[in-house]
Amino acid sequence: MPAFTDTSQVPRGNEISYHCGKCGVSIPSNPRGNIGCDCGNVFIDRDYHRLEVEDFELFELVEAPSKKSP
Ligand SMILES: [Zn+2]
Repeated sequence: MPAFTDTSQVPRGNEISYHCGKCGVSIPSNPRGNIGCDCGNVFIDRDYHRLEVEDFELFELVEAPSKKSP
Protein backbone atom coordinates (compact mmCIF):
# COMPACT_ATOMS: atom_id res chain seq x y z
CA MET A 1 0.00 0.00 0.00
CA PRO A 2 1.36 3.46 -0.82
CA ALA A 3 1.82 5.89 2.07
CA PHE A 4 -0.49 8.34 0.38
CA THR A 5 -3.46 7.96 -1.88
CA ASP A 6 -4.36 11.58 -2.41
CA THR A 7 -2.18 14.64 -2.93
CA SER A 8 -4.14 16.55 -0.28
CA GLN A 9 -2.62 14.20 2.32
CA VAL A 10 0.94 14.97 1.31
CA PRO A 11 2.74 17.53 3.46
CA ARG A 12 5.05 20.11 1.99
CA GLY A 13 7.80 22.26 3.42
CA ASN A 14 11.25 23.64 2.91
CA GLU A 15 12.80 20.46 4.27
CA ILE A 16 10.57 18.06 2.44
CA SER A 17 11.30 16.60 -0.95
CA TYR A 18 9.40 14.22 -3.15
CA HIS A 19 11.17 11.26 -4.65
CA CYS A 20 9.94 9.53 -7.77
CA GLY A 21 10.63 5.83 -7.65
CA LYS A 22 10.11 5.54 -11.39
CA CYS A 23 12.86 7.83 -12.69
CA GLY A 24 14.72 8.34 -9.40
CA VAL A 25 14.49 12.11 -9.40
CA SER A 26 13.81 14.08 -6.24
CA ILE A 27 12.12 17.45 -6.38
CA PRO A 28 11.62 20.02 -3.61
CA SER A 29 8.12 20.21 -2.23
CA ASN A 30 8.32 23.97 -2.04
CA PRO A 31 9.82 24.96 -5.40
CA ARG A 32 10.24 28.45 -6.82
CA GLY A 33 8.52 27.50 -10.02
CA ASN A 34 6.73 24.67 -11.70
CA ILE A 35 8.77 21.51 -11.41
CA GLY A 36 8.38 17.88 -12.20
CA CYS A 37 10.41 14.72 -12.29
CA ASP A 38 11.88 13.39 -15.52
CA CYS A 39 9.17 10.86 -16.22
CA GLY A 40 6.29 13.13 -15.24
CA ASN A 41 4.99 10.92 -12.44
CA VAL A 42 5.37 13.74 -9.93
CA PHE A 43 4.62 17.33 -10.83
CA ILE A 44 4.17 20.53 -8.85
CA ASP A 45 2.18 23.37 -10.32
CA ARG A 46 3.47 26.35 -8.40
CA ASP A 47 0.86 28.76 -9.73
CA TYR A 48 -1.96 26.74 -8.26
CA HIS A 49 0.14 25.34 -5.41
CA ARG A 50 -0.91 21.93 -6.53
CA LEU A 51 0.85 18.61 -6.45
CA GLU A 52 0.08 15.99 -9.02
CA VAL A 53 1.08 12.36 -8.69
CA GLU A 54 0.18 9.76 -11.25
CA ASP A 55 1.31 6.66 -9.40
CA PHE A 56 1.48 6.84 -5.62
CA GLU A 57 3.22 3.46 -5.52
CA LEU A 58 6.20 5.23 -7.04
CA PHE A 59 6.01 8.29 -4.86
CA GLU A 60 8.08 8.79 -1.75
CA LEU A 61 8.28 11.58 0.79
CA VAL A 62 11.79 12.55 1.81
CA GLU A 63 12.35 14.64 4.91
CA ALA A 64 15.78 16.20 5.17
CA PRO A 65 17.20 16.37 8.68
CA SER A 66 16.61 19.80 10.10
CA LYS A 67 19.61 22.04 9.86
CA LYS A 68 20.55 23.88 12.97
CA SER A 69 22.05 27.30 12.48
CA PRO A 70 25.49 27.68 14.05
ZN1 LIG B 1 9.63 10.31 -12.27
